Amino acid sequence: MMHKDLQEILISPEELSSGIGKLGERISADYAGRCLTLVGVLKGSVFFLTDLARRITTDVRLDFMMLSSYAGAQSTGVVRIALDLKESIEDSDVLIVEDIVDSGLTMNYLLPNLKTRRPRSLEICTLLDKPSRRKAQVPIKYAGFTIPDKFVVGYGLDYNGIYRNLPYIGVLKEGVIEGN
Ligand code: 5GP
Repeated sequence: MMHKDLQEILISPEELSSGIGKLGERISADYAGRCLTLVGVLKGSVFFLTDLARRITTDVRLDFMMLSSYAGAQSTGVVRIALDLKESIEDSDVLIVEDIVDSGLTMNYLLPNLKTRRPRSLEICTLLDKPSRRKAQVPIKYAGFTIPDKFVVGYGLDYNGIYRNLPYIGVLKEGVIEGN
């Protein structure tokens, strides 16, 4: 049953599951025999990260970061680290796990930041890729789904903090978004 605030379901639970299964197979093959550190970007990636980790057959470690944009700086990509990694990533194989890459500014900040910590390898895995609004080119190694330029919620993605627990990715009704 679709949430009343949504106009459409873009990606069903079944599609999410099979898409994430395919990502897990690719990642398992690429990192076979190695221990992979999954770096989840809080909070949006949490549902994706826990499902993806269970579809990876090589050993994984989990760590987390929380990033927040400076007020009014969304378009400039000035990002603040609100919560940093617990462990060192020096000499580790690191995979950043993100919910969605939109403008690319967040990853454009995070990637060089993590590179200075000298991981053995560093790649990006995003559940959703919204390429139409890209401002910074981001080298995405793994993308689950490419989506059109619509504001989506569910499966970790929020609007004003809610809708994260929806088991699918959906598009909000226009009237629900402030200012419409
Ligand atoms: P970027 O820096 O690539 O523009 O965007 C990264 C962040 O913007 C994402 O991690 C996410 O928090 C937010 N974002 C971008 N597009 C959407 C969207 O369609 N829905 C939601 N809920 N968040 C989005």
